[in-house]
Amino acid sequence: MPMMRVAQVPRPKASFELVEREIPQPPAGQVRIKVQACGVCHSDSVTKEGLFPNIEYPRVPGHEVIGTVDAIGGGVPGWTVGQRVGVGWHGGNCGYCDACRGGDAFDCETVTLVTGVTHDGGYAEYMIAPATALARVPDDLSSAEAAPLMCAGITTFNALRNSGAGPGETVAVLGIGGLGHLGVQFAAKMGFKTVAIARGQDKAPLAEQLGAHHYIDSQTEDPAAALQKLGGAKVILATATSGAAMNAVQGGLAARGTLLIVGVPESLDINPAPLIFGSRSVKGWYSGTSIDSQQTLAFSALTGVRSMNEVYPLARAAEAYGRMMSGEARFRVVLTMEG
Ligand SMILES: [Zn+2]
Ligand SMILES: [Zn+2]
Repeated sequence: MPMMRVAQVPRPKASFELVEREIPQPPAGQVRIKVQACGVCHSDSVTKEGLFPNIEYPRVPGHEVIGTVDAIGGGVPGWTVGQRVGVGWHGGNCGYCDACRGGDAFDCETVTLVTGVTHDGGYAEYMIAPATALARVPDDLSSAEAAPLMCAGITTFNALRNSGAGPGETVAVLGIGGLGHLGVQFAAKMGFKTVAIARGQDKAPLAEQLGAHHYIDSQTEDPAAALQKLGGAKVILATATSGAAMNAVQGGLAARGTLLIVGVPESLDINPAPLIFGSRSVKGWYSGTSIDSQQTLAFSALTGVRSMNEVYPLARAAEAYGRMMSGEARFRVVLTMEG
């Protein structure tokens, strides 16, 4: 029986185990992927800590997956063995419900499929994925380069391109971490006047390197006042997970501006008066579906947006996860399956 290695979570809050399993066969509507690289995302803690209802254990996390189609189940047109594909958080959708047919497949009414949560993900040499979850990967991105774009990338790219900001308008990115270092690059490449906001003067050179036109150090200046000095922001993409940091920038929105939340703070205070009197809004954005991932990868290949990664072999998944959770990684952690 051909076997594969996986890094699994045996039960909620337990340590990772590196185990051998039989290589699974893809059922109808699904494919088997020979995984080449898988990003390690903060949302993997959903599986590690048991934060999602009814997770079945042991479970293999990982929703920033890049690999090649290795076997194809019945009734899967359009994909071929050997083709390189990516799978993200969105783990598939039915394709026939009203939401899917209406272009809102992320809100599928029939199934809730989350890669590495409701079914096994990419901390593994092989995984099974529904065909509806697959994105095509451009040749000129390596698998390790592409992996973080499947969650951190799509989250910031898709939020920004749907934010309503136009070329030359001011877009601020709050936080320059795993999400933010990609958000700044995307904002600059999309033609926005890009403002990076973070804590500390030491981040200024990084912000410039990522393409930011302005840097605001929120430790030494009021970020809302600094944004207003630049004319106010059409969009503030909030990638930080601090509600206090989000509160501090709200006053920097221009009229009709949007505070666009993709990082998850524990709670958030909103001052309603500026929302009403300036027709401002606060909204969230779901990362996106497989086509959004594919377009994120294509845009990144086209424009040179790249994730900065620390790479670990699968056998060191526990260490890689710990490194990601420490918040010290610069900036994404990626597992590779070789060796
Ligand atoms: Zn993620
Ligand atoms: Zn559906």
